[in-house]
Amino acid sequence: MKDEVSRPKLFRTVADLREFLLPWRRAGKRIGFVPTMGALHEGHLSLVRASKAETDCTVVSIYVNPTQFGPTEDFARYPRNLERDMELLSHEGVEAVFAPDDAEMYPPGYNTWVEVKGVSEPLEGECRPGHFRGVATVVLKLFNIVQPDVTYFGAKDYQQSLVVRQLIRDLNLPIELKVLPTVREPDGLAMSSRNSYLSPDARSRATVLWKSLQKAQDLLAQGERDPQVIQEAMRQIILSVPGTSIDYVALVDPETLSPVSTITGPTLAAVAVRLEGTRLIDNLLLQP
Ligand code: AMP
Repeated sequence: MKDEVSRPKLFRTVADLREFLLPWRRAGKRIGFVPTMGALHEGHLSLVRASKAETDCTVVSIYVNPTQFGPTEDFARYPRNLERDMELLSHEGVEAVFAPDDAEMYPPGYNTWVEVKGVSEPLEGECRPGHFRGVATVVLKLFNIVQPDVTYFGAKDYQQSLVVRQLIRDLNLPIELKVLPTVREPDGLAMSSRNSYLSPDARSRATVLWKSLQKAQDLLAQGERDPQVIQEAMRQIILSVPGTSIDYVALVDPETLSPVSTITGPTLAAVAVRLEGTRLIDNLLLQP
């Protein structure tokens, strides 16, 4: 299977994708859906492989969604390489790729927005106002277009997975959400399309996010239960690396993302760090 190469069908319009999916759905086949912004890496492919293993028809969307980027963010320079992505997906046996343009997703007069409250507000929500409104809006649109049985997201974007979980619950979407572990480079750096922005030198320094998360786990293993102490140790590690600045270092409840006052159960450590103009995020679920 892995060695067979069969190019996925590429769809540019909602109507064409729906026409393709209709017979699958009518035949009772299970549809798996992996939403991405392309520039695919092993993190994305882990989601694709799970969908291939667990469903009958895997749809991957590749769409750099403008509405989830702030005005000063990296929308214009975000890496785009559809040909390479199609090639990678050919080796996974993906049935369909949906790669719409902006006019297909947001035609003139587009005027509906989806806002998930609560879990979208802290952390990324504070640093990137409007980000999760854009995410929730495009994800709901994509769910309505694909109508999957199962959808696959990565724990790399932990807060995003909570926002999607809330969206699915609140709007009664008949979709099963699966959140899969973060895929890392051998040195611990979480795979990300944005890693390509890093100079070789910054790339080696970027391991500091993972090091700070491991430090948190180590301190917890040694019996430390004060989140302030752990956060301070993480900050020191990060700021000891030249060129870094911290958006946040947080120890929070993994369900609500509220700060914890003492660590008594599973706790999410989450970091957002800028390194020479590139914003990187990572997280680790700490187990006391
Ligand atoms: P993106 O293309 O960055 O929007 O990511 C698309 C999906 O892939 C999201 O569900 C991400 O959480 C997931 N993803 C991105 N990087 C990784 C990674 N290193 N490991 C696992 N999943 C990932």
